[in-house]
Amino acid sequence: MPGFKCPYCSMVMPISQDTNKTLYPSFDSQHGVYRNADYKICYNKSCLKIDFYECPNCKQYSIILNGVGSSVEDVKNIHVRPSSLAIQFPSYIPESIRQDYEEACAIVSLSPKASATLSRRCLQGMIRDFWKITDKKRLVDEIDALQDKVPASQWKILNSIRRIGNIGAHPEADVNLIIDIEPEDAQKLISIIELLIRQWYIERHEQEQLYKDVLELDQDMQSQKDKG
Ligand SMILES: [Zn+2]
Repeated sequence: MPGFKCPYCSMVMPISQDTNKTLYPSFDSQHGVYRNADYKICYNKSCLKIDFYECPNCKQYSIILNGVGSSVEDVKNIHVRPSSLAIQFPSYIPESIRQDYEEACAIVSLSPKASATLSRRCLQGMIRDFWKITDKKRLVDEIDALQDKVPASQWKILNSIRRIGNIGAHPEADVNLIIDIEPEDAQKLISIIELLIRQWYIERHEQEQLYKDVLELDQDMQSQKDKG
């Protein structure tokens, strides 16, 4: 069953008449869409597709726009509410990293190339801050220095982020060679950055908290035992 993940509470809601309503306004009429005898959707020239979602869990509305038809097909997955799908990460993650990540999210539909470049920059910031690799200049060398520190599958992905982000960062030597990055692809890089933030920063923070709690508990119990 198709689902939609609520950007506010992360619950995946089933798409049904209760959770999703779609409108198709167009230049010609209020209803840019009609159904033919087979009950198939037909579009009346170009129209906008406005999807409203109401989360059954937190009751928040999400609104997404898409263009249908040749005149507006460049309108792709515009997030009206919330305006980007950036996760609000906790403040113990450095601000510069959160900023690059949020900008990568904000621009993903408008300029997937710029978004991929920002994801790459975000990764570089994370490698320097989290792994304390500060004596290298180029991202390729910084990733090389991580080879024996992270799992092999993760290391491969870091190189992929670097290479895909490079397409946005540096124009090809041959200007006729245009490699495009689609918004869906740039979104995948963002998802990897989110995963790395969780696996590196959030897991470390939660582990530190838990260790601290158990150490304090241990000390507390020992001192009670000594008193008793
Ligand atoms: Zn929700």
